Amino acid sequence: MEQQNSTSLDPNTIPKDNQETEAQSSIRSLRELIDLVTGRGFKPELEEESGFAEILPFPFLALVGQMEMRLALLLSLINPAVSGVLLIGPRGTGKTTAVRSLINLLPDIERSTCFYGCLPEDVEIGGIDTICPDCAKKYAEGKPLTKTEKARIVELPLNARLEDVVGGLDEHAVAHERFRLKRGILSLADQNILYIDEVNLLADEIVDAILDAAAQGSYTIRRGQFSATYKANFTLIGSMNPEEGNLRPQILDRFGLRVIVRGLSSAQERLDAYRRVAAYRRSPRRVVTQFYQETELARIELQEARNLLPRVILPDEVARKGIQMIQALQIDSLRAEITMFEAARAYAAADGRSVVSQEDIRIVAPMALRLRRSSFMTKYFEDRSREEKELLATIEQTIPESTSQIG
Ligand SMILES: [Zn+2]
Repeated sequence: MEQQNSTSLDPNTIPKDNQETEAQSSIRSLRELIDLVTGRGFKPELEEESGFAEILPFPFLALVGQMEMRLALLLSLINPAVSGVLLIGPRGTGKTTAVRSLINLLPDIERSTCFYGCLPEDVEIGGIDTICPDCAKKYAEGKPLTKTEKARIVELPLNARLEDVVGGLDEHAVAHERFRLKRGILSLADQNILYIDEVNLLADEIVDAILDAAAQGSYTIRRGQFSATYKANFTLIGSMNPEEGNLRPQILDRFGLRVIVRGLSSAQERLDAYRRVAAYRRSPRRVVTQFYQETELARIELQEARNLLPRVILPDEVARKGIQMIQALQIDSLRAEITMFEAARAYAAADGRSVVSQEDIRIVAPMALRLRRSSFMTKYFEDRSREEKELLATIEQTIPESTSQIG
């Protein structure tokens, strides 16, 4: 596990055991100095087994511009029913940075301490045989199988196989003449964010498995006589570069919010973004510290919005306006209104209101409705309607209605 290198201490001069402690205490005293100067008291927790980038991602609140992308991401965290976000744009527009920056806004979760991800609810649902022997022992002794942890952003590797995603037979256990199923990436994503970069390059069977699990909040795998069902409640975020290929319309339809991410257009924004990124490269810790208080506040507000969400109602007259818009745009998929209304509820909750207004709909409509119209279906319906007219005209010409009535 690589530790951070944000210290100039020469590792060769320090005995290995003390290296980490020395390095940390040196950083700490420097930070304390900064804290004293700036009046801040930031004490980030160091996580074991984490890369540097994971410990100190670029702060969400330090992102410059890209308001629609940031709003879409926040709404998807407040209300999972918006069915995720798809970020569409060229490379280098900050899509991945923005997704990773969400980590500090997420509330803590309860996670299994076991490699296999055994949970007490597995026992409640499927009995003691559904967890591994070590966990079964712990469970019997009344010891916890989970611990409170920070939420994670699980990034799906582009070379992931279906078996990695949904899990499969545990070869190690098979070698010991035991049969058990191994969890996949989807179950690791439970309660977390699942991020698929370049989702348009992923094999169809994998995308389908992920979207099905995302829709159901769980998934079942079967291998011969064995089957297991895992929880998979996650916020799905995908990104794609349209220069590298399209996404099948059926898949596109299943992503709730769609954001077109362009490069920053204003010169001032570009300069601000450059300065922040440069500052972050020099000292991630300093930038994270600068935004620490705002980040904490945003995290609390996000949790409050989540708490308020179940009580947020959508009045009929507001819903009718939304439907009117969808009909005027000739969008067929019912997912359009589900996403639009759920995003509007999340927006109202974020604003501390329990009633959705027309204005909320107006704000979220572009990201919920864009790329919903299928040019294929539009042409198909136009062709059918032309055919229908010709058909009726020919029938009328051959057997006029008046003739048939008289005859
Ligand atoms: Zn276990």
